[in-house]
Amino acid sequence: MDLELTPEQKAIKEMARRFAEEEIVPVARDNDRNCRFPHEIIKKMVPMGLVGGPVPEKYGGAGLDFISHAIITEEIGRACSSVRTTLSVQVSLVELCILNWGTEEQKQKYLPALCRGEIIGCFALTEPGAGSDAANQSTRAVPTGDKWVLNGTKTWISNAGVADIAVLIARTNTDTKEKHEGLTAFIIECKKTKGYSTRDIENKLGLRSSNTAEVFLEDCELPKDAELGAVGQGFKVAMTGLDNGRFSVAAGCVGISQACIDASVKYAKQRVQFDRPIGSFQLIQDMIARMVTDTEAARLLVYKAADVKNKGRRSTQETSIAKFFASEAALRAANMAVQIPGGYGYSDEFPVERYLRDARVATIYEGTSEIQKLIIGREVLGLRAFA
Ligand SMILES: Cc1cc2nc3c(=O)[nH]c(=O)nc-3n(C[C@H](O)[C@H](O)[C@H](O)COP(=O)(O)OP(=O)(O)OC[C@H]3O[C@@H](n4cnc5c(N)ncnc54)[C@H](O)[C@@H]3O)c2cc1C
Repeated sequence: MDLELTPEQKAIKEMARRFAEEEIVPVARDNDRNCRFPHEIIKKMVPMGLVGGPVPEKYGGAGLDFISHAIITEEIGRACSSVRTTLSVQVSLVELCILNWGTEEQKQKYLPALCRGEIIGCFALTEPGAGSDAANQSTRAVPTGDKWVLNGTKTWISNAGVADIAVLIARTNTDTKEKHEGLTAFIIECKKTKGYSTRDIENKLGLRSSNTAEVFLEDCELPKDAELGAVGQGFKVAMTGLDNGRFSVAAGCVGISQACIDASVKYAKQRVQFDRPIGSFQLIQDMIARMVTDTEAARLLVYKAADVKNKGRRSTQETSIAKFFASEAALRAANMAVQIPGGYGYSDEFPVERYLRDARVATIYEGTSEIQKLIIGREVLGLRAFA
């Protein structure tokens, strides 16, 4: 793996950084305070190719490699994790799932509109009784005449309250030996489908300007061709989707860590105590050194996973390692970034308290750190800690 960024990747980094600094950073605090979903930012990202990064140009994307996708995601995550979460779901979970599993007709129908930001997507796997145990799906999809009829509830679904389409996993066969068998993925046109409704989840600790909602399916009728991938392949669709989603979370966490370094270095050089800049104290330098080392390591793990993805290989182990390390590293960095400004870090006059609240979810969503460790253990040992 060549660690030197190509001239094109360097240009993408500069472009994404400039966009984030000019369009996202100035409004991030107010959107966080007002729990406001920034539709206009997503629209502004479209002409720059940020909303369809790794999707091939023939489907309306920018046809970027996965290191470029990571660079964009890091830069957006450096500015605001809520925007990064919205983008990660749109690109990594919805667009790439449709790209990898959709029929040619589904790709033509949905991908250009998703890449143009005309429609927003969500990815609905989690249920009240199926979190870490994602295979334990109780949402049912029953074939009835020329339709599917769905009943069930999804919870903690990012973008669901603002989404036009949902990639949703449901059980189509209850007569299976294993829980992960008998599941099917569907594409639901949310606003056009009777029996589909959502309720926003309010007062989250962080990610306050990203939408998170419950989804209710009550005799929700879908056309027979709404399946994404074959009937019975839903678990595989979901897991390959998460390989991309987790990659994007990891890259976003590198962005949080970098933002923590940038804020901490600036503050530590300016703030004077005991007649010296606090940055000259060894214990402050210890925190900065830990942040920088963690961030460099996390970025390299993300690029390693990107390299595997660029070669078209299965990246489950590399992605879980990157997600586990980068999310824990971002949490450590954000905690120190609040410590360094002392009391000033404890109000939203400085962005570091938002970094800490936003980093907190990254070790939980798209598979907790515990689950990432069990995936890494399974890949290395060939032994499953869970079914
Ligand atoms: C803001 C936010 C956005 C989200 N967005 C989405 C989304 O877009 N789509 C979606 O489908 N889901 C989404 N989720 C759901 C998220 O993926 C789940 O919350 C997560 O997978 C954990 O599931 P759970 O909350 O049910 O916790 P549980 O599975 O109940 O876990 C509780 C605790 O037990 C631990 N645990 C569970 N099993 C084991 C085990 N075998 N060994 C050791 N420890 C274990 C966990 O690590 C955790 O600490 C989102 C969640 C949040 C908070």
